[in-house]
Amino acid sequence: MSKWVYGFGAGQSEGSAAMRDLLGGKGANLAEMSQLGLPVPPGFIITTEVCTHFYAHDRQYPPGLNEEADAALRKVEEAVGAGFGDPKRPLLVSVRSGAPVSMPGMMDTVLNLGLNDQTVEGLAALSGDRRFAYDSYRRFIQMYGDVVLGIDHYLFEDELEEVKLNGGRQLDTELTADDLEGLVGVYKRIVAERTGAQFPQTAKDQLWGAIGAVFGSWMTPRAVTYRRLHAIGEGMGTAVNVQAMVFGNRGETSATGVAFTRDPSTGEKRYYGEFLVNAQGEDVVAGIRTPQPLTLAMKRSNGSALPAMEEVMPEAYAELAEVFDRLERHYREMQDIEFTVQEGRLWILQTRSGKRTTQAALKIAVDMAEEGLIDQDQAVRRIDPASLDQLLHPMLDPDAKKEVIARGLPASPGAVSGKIVFNADEAERQAAKGEAVILVRLETSPEDIHGMHAAKGILTSRGGMTSHAAVVARGMGKPCICAAAGLAIDSRNGRMTVGSRVMEAGETITIDGSAGTVMLGAVPTIDPKLSGDFATLMGWADQRRRLKIRTNADTPTDARTARRFGAEGIGLCRTEHMFFDDERILAVRQMILAGDADGRRAALAKILPMQRQDFIELFEIMVGLPVTIRLLDPPLHEFLPHEPEEIELVARASGVDAAALTRRAGELREVNPMLGLRGCRLGILFPEIYEMQARAIFEATIAVAQSTGRSVVPEIMVPLIGTARELELIKAEIDAIAKEVMSETSGVLEYQVGTMIEVPRAALCAGPIAEHAQFFSFGTNDLTQMALGLSRDDSAKFLEHYLERKIYEADPFSTLDVEGVGELVEMACQRGRAVRGDIKLGICGEHGGDPKAIAFCEQVGLDYVSCSPYRVPIARLAAAQAALAAKRSEAPAA
Ligand code: ADP
Ligand code: MG
Ligand code: MG
Repeated sequence: MSKWVYGFGAGQSEGSAAMRDLLGGKGANLAEMSQLGLPVPPGFIITTEVCTHFYAHDRQYPPGLNEEADAALRKVEEAVGAGFGDPKRPLLVSVRSGAPVSMPGMMDTVLNLGLNDQTVEGLAALSGDRRFAYDSYRRFIQMYGDVVLGIDHYLFEDELEEVKLNGGRQLDTELTADDLEGLVGVYKRIVAERTGAQFPQTAKDQLWGAIGAVFGSWMTPRAVTYRRLHAIGEGMGTAVNVQAMVFGNRGETSATGVAFTRDPSTGEKRYYGEFLVNAQGEDVVAGIRTPQPLTLAMKRSNGSALPAMEEVMPEAYAELAEVFDRLERHYREMQDIEFTVQEGRLWILQTRSGKRTTQAALKIAVDMAEEGLIDQDQAVRRIDPASLDQLLHPMLDPDAKKEVIARGLPASPGAVSGKIVFNADEAERQAAKGEAVILVRLETSPEDIHGMHAAKGILTSRGGMTSHAAVVARGMGKPCICAAAGLAIDSRNGRMTVGSRVMEAGETITIDGSAGTVMLGAVPTIDPKLSGDFATLMGWADQRRRLKIRTNADTPTDARTARRFGAEGIGLCRTEHMFFDDERILAVRQMILAGDADGRRAALAKILPMQRQDFIELFEIMVGLPVTIRLLDPPLHEFLPHEPEEIELVARASGVDAAALTRRAGELREVNPMLGLRGCRLGILFPEIYEMQARAIFEATIAVAQSTGRSVVPEIMVPLIGTARELELIKAEIDAIAKEVMSETSGVLEYQVGTMIEVPRAALCAGPIAEHAQFFSFGTNDLTQMALGLSRDDSAKFLEHYLERKIYEADPFSTLDVEGVGELVEMACQRGRAVRGDIKLGICGEHGGDPKAIAFCEQVGLDYVSCSPYRVPIARLAAAQAALAAKRSEAPAA
């Protein structure tokens, strides 16, 4: 027999935090807190299995659920000393969703359920507070109307505004009992008009209506989109939490709030949060009133004029602080907590691990390791490698001139410039055209998610540090400013007013989410410092990884950036851009046009000194570290001139006529260049090209060894090898050049020759190829194209469709296709090693910087991964996590 319902409350519970999949995150933690003896209102959880059953059986509940829920409800009634639907002592409950993975804002909660025309009077009599009773009732009808009955919430809000306006009330809290009672009548009329039925008056009907709505909300487009964006499976389902209400709207000694046990923006070890007196539920995050700071320290640092909880409710605050410490020690993680104070008494309504900026995540992980709360392995495991990206990108240049036009709350750090857009769809449209945009909104809601994804930064005129915009932006790692003072947004007319300045959509602003400043125009930015917690954590990561991290760098600038980020050599230096250089292209074109080998040699001789200088610079930056240079790869026609003036120029310089040149270009044109005369095939047909490159490499090696006194070991990589014979021929040429250079300079050269594995045949025939290769580097871009028979440049048109139909799990060009391409890699490793035990193995495709691919590289035992400079830190951390995972799976079960 399945158990569908789990109860909790009064220091007991049938579930625990470990039962997250079954009880959902919220429910599991409510159960756990209840067990810890924390003040949690009693309630029960309907499991995710009911949700799964619901969708597998045409939206029917499993047999037995009703009885189990009834029994659990009776226990809650006993614990509270009230009856569900009892007109004298009514029990009110909240109905809350809660999936195993937190999906903020995706599912809606109904509060004060159980109120009707009778019980509201019971509540009024019992509490001696009519205003409170009717405030709860109007909130209930609005939430139930919106969430369960599908009535647009603004219909209710407009009426509320109307009542405020007519009565001359500024704030919701100024509404009187009579105002609210009148409003309830209006709300019930709206429900009757919109649904054609009276607002449900039976508590049981209300309850099952709300439960059904929570399960229904699992499949709303909003929830489906969120899951798709975050790769969350559809199958897990949501749980439903039914919990006795506690009331933050019970007058001046009551309040509701949200808090973090540490600062989620900087990671500092200080409590951080906001609360509102005489308020309920999401009033704090909805930006209806300006929330008050939790602590005096926060009040000081924010310059808030509002009193802190620490001063106005010292006892409840002290108790809350104790709960913070208790929960943090228990979960060994920074917690995000929701609480309510009812008539001075503290209640905890939710805890979960708190979302934070990357900067905060690093500080918290390092601090917790130093506090002994976690160990260094855990600290390294806790940071999402991809999130480091946020830190590596620019901050405002402190010396730049800037004109600050507005200030708001520093809700998510980082500086960025972009054009103003006022709605999410427009943000998406502009971003698709390659525009950098800043999404400017009154406040954001889950409907804006796609626009927030598309925007570079977010600016709102309302909401606090825990508003939707702030929380979501921090999660996405985007700069965000909330509650910008003096910002009046007129989105309908595409304009905003800042002080006396009017700005239109399309004008450029810069926002600094670390300082909370909005600036006119595009303010220059600088690279961040890579010290402090970042350096500490990366140090711990480096001690734990086995894989070496190299970079793909073609230019000295790239090489220097990568060194700063900790690259341990170059895994791929492409030489083609060097041929495109303005000064050289003429000689390159002459070389291509030359009728014979001598003509080609003469042209190449002009390029040689420049090419040698390229390598000298790279070797100097990477001295003491390995540098892999790939010989020329692309099809020759790419270098040929297209414009008539260019053709004329080349014709004159090489003494041929323009017509001959055009003819030659025509001859070189290919139907399918990707599979044409490129890579080592060039070297086979025109050996002079690779000979020149090899000579440049060797002469540079000797020059740098002499000038620095340190050895340089170049690794010469031959592209697009498909057969052992190709490599054998080219290696012989390279070796011959090495001999020549050694005898000319009487220097000693140490070097390696190896190949890219990027043609599937090379992976299959890796054994014989390894006889001539001292290393393999997996070029997973081409290998993916050729293994899947899929052109990267042409796949964009149908890839989306393939992903939607789940034909591909992910874009194979950004996430390595481990099942297919990975099999080729693994096979090549085995076959290569069988022939040459010490063959060096690496990866240099786009995938070299992808944490999932890096985990795979660790598993198959590659020696290094190579990635673009900005991904080097990400790769260092991912490699450490991969090594830790391997260590774990090897360790015998405890
Ligand atoms: P979300 O998943 O969006 O955070 P919650 O279920 O946590 O939604 O509920 C929304 C708000 O309602 C929160 O502020 C929460 O504290 C409040 N709330 C939920 N249940 C109760 C309750 N039983 N008593 C008082 N407040 C509640
Ligand atoms: Mg919500
Ligand atoms: Mg919540």
